[in-house]
Amino acid sequence: MVKDYVKPRSLDEAFEALAMPGSIALAGGTFALIGEVHGTKADIERAVDIGGLLSEAVERRGSELYVGAGCSFQALAEAPAAPACLRAAALTMANRNTRNRATVGGNLGANKSCASLVPILLALGAQAEYKLRDSGPRHIALEQWLAAPQGLVLSLSIPIVSGTRAASGRASRTSCDLATATVGLAFRLEGNAVRDLRVALGGFGPHAMLFPAITALFEGKSLPPKADIEKAVEPLLSALSDKRGGADYKKRRGAVLVADALHAAEVLA
Ligand SMILES: Cc1cc2nc3c(=O)[nH]c(=O)nc-3n(C[C@H](O)[C@H](O)[C@H](O)COP(=O)(O)OP(=O)(O)OC[C@H]3O[C@@H](n4cnc5c(N)ncnc54)[C@H](O)[C@@H]3O)c2cc1C
Repeated sequence: MVKDYVKPRSLDEAFEALAMPGSIALAGGTFALIGEVHGTKADIERAVDIGGLLSEAVERRGSELYVGAGCSFQALAEAPAAPACLRAAALTMANRNTRNRATVGGNLGANKSCASLVPILLALGAQAEYKLRDSGPRHIALEQWLAAPQGLVLSLSIPIVSGTRAASGRASRTSCDLATATVGLAFRLEGNAVRDLRVALGGFGPHAMLFPAITALFEGKSLPPKADIEKAVEPLLSALSDKRGGADYKKRRGAVLVADALHAAEVLA
């Protein structure tokens, strides 16, 4: 239950309201309004509606893609400036009504295990622009912000490096079912050799994260056939058995997802 609702007219007003104990930022509300704060079911003392205060732009700025934290999943899926892997990740949120409301910033704030956008953003090396009360905007690597979330994310900057190949993916038993795994990966090919590989997975821990151990399997080598990738990746994954599926099933699906994504990766620009 939300006990109090505030609609600030500026970011400064929003930070004032958020400074009051028990306040949370409300973007699309598709996660916050299920009444779970930091993983615990709870009443919300004060919802501070930040809708309309954050940029919704998705645009190329030089060699980077700028994504405003206020951008909805649907807008991202339809943005001509966004690479196919990012648009595809936004579309894996199966329900269009939810995509219309859910924002990029909210996906980072919710930081769910099977987050749709987080793996591909980590793989692409996104930088987060965030702001605390009474300070100017700061920039850090997204993985650092996710490790210790603070303030409000204002935007993301994603390097679009010529020749980078990338892919995203999601595994679930049916298209509308809860995800058992999500993946994002990016690399270059130097001749046949895989270079600068970054692999991130959701579903194998409380939050989506980079998997350096998977990178180490393939970095500097030519890409093996899918069956060999699956065999090598599966033992590196650990999962919990729950309503989404058994641990072995999830590990298998995750390994297949990585193999498929490595082989399907497309050049960004
Ligand atoms: C039917 C349904 C299906 C869903 N399917 C998926 C799915 O397929 N994939 C997926 O990843 N998620 C899914 N979700 C979860 C949720 O929709 C996403 O996490 C979504 O991105 C949250 O965005 P939001 O704008 O609604 O955030 P909110 O619910 O408004 O906020 C979520 C959290 O993020 C914080 N927050 C919001 N904006 C910012 C910001 N700019 N900076 C810092 N913190 C912020 C809030 O304080 C809150 O703690 C689903 C939810 C529903 C209800």
